[in-house]
Amino acid sequence: MINAVSVDLEDWYHICGLKNGQWVKEWNQYSAHLEKSVDKILALLDKYEVLATFFVVGYVAEKNPRLIQKIANMGHEIASHGYFHRRIFDMTPEVFEEDLKRSKSVIEAITGKKVRGYRAPEWSLKEETRWALDILKKNGFEYDASANPMSYLSGKGFGLIPCEIKTKCGKIHEFPLSTVRMFAERIPFSGGLPLRVVPYCNVFSFFKSFNKKRVPVMLYLHSWEFDIHHPKVDLPLNRKFMHYFNCKVTPIKVEKLFQYFNFTTIENVLVPEMSRETNRVFTKKPAIHKEYVISSSLTFIGFLLAYSLLFALPKFMGLYSLFALLIGMTILYWPWTTISNCVESIKKRIKK
Ligand SMILES: [Zn+2]
Repeated sequence: MINAVSVDLEDWYHICGLKNGQWVKEWNQYSAHLEKSVDKILALLDKYEVLATFFVVGYVAEKNPRLIQKIANMGHEIASHGYFHRRIFDMTPEVFEEDLKRSKSVIEAITGKKVRGYRAPEWSLKEETRWALDILKKNGFEYDASANPMSYLSGKGFGLIPCEIKTKCGKIHEFPLSTVRMFAERIPFSGGLPLRVVPYCNVFSFFKSFNKKRVPVMLYLHSWEFDIHHPKVDLPLNRKFMHYFNCKVTPIKVEKLFQYFNFTTIENVLVPEMSRETNRVFTKKPAIHKEYVISSSLTFIGFLLAYSLLFALPKFMGLYSLFALLIGMTILYWPWTTISNCVESIKKRIKK
């Protein structure tokens, strides 16, 4: 089973919805922080012989044509992330089409290859912006990877796993964000903030359960997650959390996933027959994943301890038992990522 990996290639200041869109006018004043993070991503992909889809912001491509050429020359897929990194619902259909065409022509002029895929900034494909799929298909796009099945974003109407969607101009492939069902909601786990906060053992088991059902997962990354020292924008608390929280764990978790699962570009996963000659699909034998065994055992012991406390103290049943359960889980479960990261960085220092 082969999963997809994508990188949204954007700089630290490409944040949607700031200053009513006037933010774009200030971009020229900012220093670029792309090369360092892209080099880190390319080195990691190269180490594990993985090809990825890079969703490039057209503005970035225009400013850094050599960087885009370098990525393309390594066999990775270059797709569009819009020209000005604007959410679909912030644009009219006409403005969206103009933005899309501009990004496509900039990228194609650099790489000399047809752009086949699109990802909307901030998963902004919604029922009310379904017209975007018609425009994508009309402009020669073969797939979209912008649907997020969470109820307040795209919802389930665009599918939960890769599928084909009818548009006015024919069918288009859709690769929605991989999510798991939790209570009444769909929860993502395979990239961005969810990958940074969900413990690795859970991410690992979600990947395993998807692949067991023969469903590919989409691992999605942002270039700025690979450079924690980039300048920060003053954002509201929730968006600050979304952009800057725990970015240092992303490369570590991604490397662990690369050691176990197979990944390739989205076009290779969706339509193998449209794969380019330069795109090879690599397979590797799964290694024994000790950390997964250890973390699952610790989780199990944590639950066991919590339940023992729950039953050993029947007179405090009620609120106390709930606390005991939470404490048990917290002690042994959540900090696992932190512990494994510490071990990882100590190992690296010793090697140096
Ligand atoms: Zn983006």
